[in-house]
Order: sequence, then structure tokens, then C-alpha cells
Amino acid sequence: MSTPSGEQRNIVIIGGGIIGSSKRGVAQGASGKAGGLVAKWAYPAELVNVTFPEHVRLAEKYDGANKWGWRYVNCGSWEGRGEVPRPRPRGRKQSLIAELGPDWETRKRIQKGLPGDLDWVKEELTDSYSAMAPEGQTAQIQPYLFTTTLLKFAKEKGVQVVGGRATSLNIDNSSKSITGVTYTDNETGATETLPATQVILAAGVWSPKLLPSLPISGTRAHSIILHFDPPRVFSPHVLFTEITMPIIPQLSSPSSPYTPPNNTVRVASPEIYARPTNEVYCCGPGDNPPVPETVDEVEVDHQATENVRQQVASISNELREGRVVRRQACFLPVVSKGGGPIVGSADHVAKGLIIATGHTCWGICNAPGTAKALAELIMEGEIKCADLSKLAPSKFI
Ligand SMILES: Cc1cc2nc3c(=O)[nH]c(=O)nc-3n(C[C@H](O)[C@H](O)[C@H](O)COP(=O)(O)OP(=O)(O)OC[C@H]3O[C@@H](n4cnc5c(N)ncnc54)[C@H](O)[C@@H]3O)c2cc1C
Repeated sequence: MSTPSGEQRNIVIIGGGIIGSSKRGVAQGASGKAGGLVAKWAYPAELVNVTFPEHVRLAEKYDGANKWGWRYVNCGSWEGRGEVPRPRPRGRKQSLIAELGPDWETRKRIQKGLPGDLDWVKEELTDSYSAMAPEGQTAQIQPYLFTTTLLKFAKEKGVQVVGGRATSLNIDNSSKSITGVTYTDNETGATETLPATQVILAAGVWSPKLLPSLPISGTRAHSIILHFDPPRVFSPHVLFTEITMPIIPQLSSPSSPYTPPNNTVRVASPEIYARPTNEVYCCGPGDNPPVPETVDEVEVDHQATENVRQQVASISNELREGRVVRRQACFLPVVSKGGGPIVGSADHVAKGLIIATGHTCWGICNAPGTAKALAELIMEGEIKCADLSKLAPSKFI
């Protein structure tokens, strides 16, 4: 492609996550396994100010509501107690409705400080709820659908997807310029080279394998996806919870449907994301095993996913009835020096090298803003949409 001033650009992007786009299993890393919150109150502010309107624009232009589940949500912090599941007394709710009127439950929730339509966590287990932002400041997407749909659009515009694992950045030592990328082809196993005038390194936690001076480390997090038979609609809420878990040893027998979490954590903090398509996504805390060589080797600890299931089931009859259709884990890229993400030109390392990684827990939110900034950098020579100098690679490497 050529810039408005007629210069030829041959751009290679390393990374098939939301930040980059090439192919070694698109969205198989954090970008396919994240919650999908998009918030005006995310950070860093200078990037969020660009990214939120970009999300809105993309959703409006390309029917994001139907293609990747874009919608505004309420987001709140919920504190309360978990309970051991027990059979629901049949007919009790109907008789209460008859006695107290059809909206008695809504009134009870509102009295407790809960949103009136948050009807899928138990009001009686709630100690406190506080909204994290006013309405209209938080939205959500389904990250896997967003990433794969945008890649499809990019391919329609001429982007070529290469299935392979980049093994080195090629730099001409005399001019200190990037010349291309060497990779191993997924299908043939052959070593190939792609020539490039610009290389965008967007390989998430794997970015330092190609540029060891990058201060990026990885935090692993587990998540589950629940589906419901028959399908049901969950009101649009994302909850950051703090649940004091019940520990009742006599119920841990094999005949019991409930096994107390196999750890000593009494207070658990799963995040719960109701999605529009008969789906609820829930994720647990992070841990720090070593980052494996490739995305395919990320290990899923079954017990960690089971803990998340039991935790969310302990505060909601509705979630308890969910069928776990996916148990997964992924690494989110963290800037080990603090701050970040790292976005911009790394000309001081090699002319033509661009970095886009370290988006921590806001990569889904900040991806379109990052893309806009980098498109300006490559096509117009500088980032114009915001002052992202704080995120410049020279500040980190
Ligand atoms: C549990 C959890 C929940 C989250 N929830 C949210 C949320 O609600 N909102 C939000 O904004 N963010 C959220 N995040 C953060 C978000 O998922 C990440 O910041 C984002 O996905 C990072 O994207 P990435 O493209 O940098 O990395 P990744 O998605 O990990 O993608 C990197 C890609 O590079 C590829 N790759 C690696 N090495 C090579 C190589 N040598 N050659 C070629 N390709 C390579 C990998 O295979 C992978 O596909 C969450 C993260 C987790 C873990």
C-alpha cells in the first residue's frame, strides 16, 4: 500500500490477537477469552478517549450489535455471601407474587440498593452494590467475534493472513532498519521470510520472545462460559464481586452436587458478564505460571475453572442452572515496569519497528484506539488522534 504522499509501505503485523492481526489461530490468546468490557473509565485516559468513540463508530457502521454483541451494560461492584445450593421451595414465589404484587421482588432489590432489573443474583445474599459508572459509560463486546469479524473485513480489504510463527525480526545492521520477519510456516514447517518496511509487534505476552528487551510479563486467568437450557435472557449487567464463600464440609461427599472450593480462599472475587446470546462469561483471579512457548500450550487448571463455577453458583439460582460449555485460560500482557500499554514507533531500536502490546486488562477496550493511532503513524508519519508520548516504546525499552 502507499501513503498519501506516495511512499510504498509493506507492513507485517505479528500477532493474531485483538491488537495485531496475522494468523496462528486467530483470537486464540487473551483476545478470544476475555470478558469484553469497553469502558469510558478504563485507562490510560489518553487512549480511552480515542478508543471508546472508535468502538461506537465501528458498532454503528458494521452492525456490531448483531456481529459481535455490542451493547451498553451496567457495571457494578457487588459484595455479599455465597450459600450452599439447596432445592428451591416450589410454589413459594408464586404465592408471594399473589400476596405482595408482581413487582415485589423489584421493590426489594431497589430497597437493597441493587438495580431493579438485576434479577439474577440473590437479593437476600447481597451486602452492598455500587455502580462503577453512570449509564452510557460502559459497553461490552464478545471479544472473539469482534476480533474474527474485524480480521475478515481486513482480508476483504486486501490484508493477507499468513499461518506461521514468527521466529525473528530481521534488521539491517548498517542502516538499523527493519527489513522483514522470518517465520516457520504452520503447514509446511518451512522457514520463510516476509519482507517489510514496517513491522508491528503485537504478539501479546509472546512479544519479548522476538524482542527480549521488552518489559512484558504475563498473568494467567481462568474463565468459564455458561449456556442455558432452555435459553434465557440475562439483564445487561457486569458484576465485579466479592463473595464470602460458605464452607460446609459435610456437603463435600461424592453424592452431593456441591463440592466446596478446593482451596482455602474464603473470599472470592469472580467477575460475571451477562452476554446477549444466552451466555454468561465468568472469570477468576490471575496466577503467574511461566508463559509457555506458544498459545497452544497454555494449560487450563480444571479446578480453577470449577472454583469460578461454584463461586458464581453460590450467589445465583440462575447461574447455578448454567451448563459450562467452555473452560479456558489465557495470559494477559502486563508491562512489568508498570504503566503502559506500549504503543508507537520503536525507531530507536530499528527504523520501521512499531510496538503494540502490554494492554493488561484493557486490551479489548483499547484495541480500536491503538489501531487508529498506529494507522496514523504509518500512513501519516505521526500519531495525531491523541498525545500518546507516555506510551512510546522509548519510555520502556
Ligand atoms: C480473563 C481476562 C478477562 C479480560 N477481560 C477484558 C475486558 O473485559 N476488557 C478488556 O478491555 N480487556 C480484557 N482483558 C484483557 C485483554 O484480553 C488483553 O489485553 C488483550 O486480549 C491482549 O491482546 P493481544 O492481541 O495483545 O494479545 P493476545 O490476544 O494474547 O494475542 C497475541 C497473539 O499473538 C500470537 N503470537 C504469539 N507469538 C507469535 C509469533 N511468534 N508469531 C506469530 N504470532 C504470535 C498469539 O498466538 C496470539 O494469537 C481480559 C483478559 C483476561 C485474561
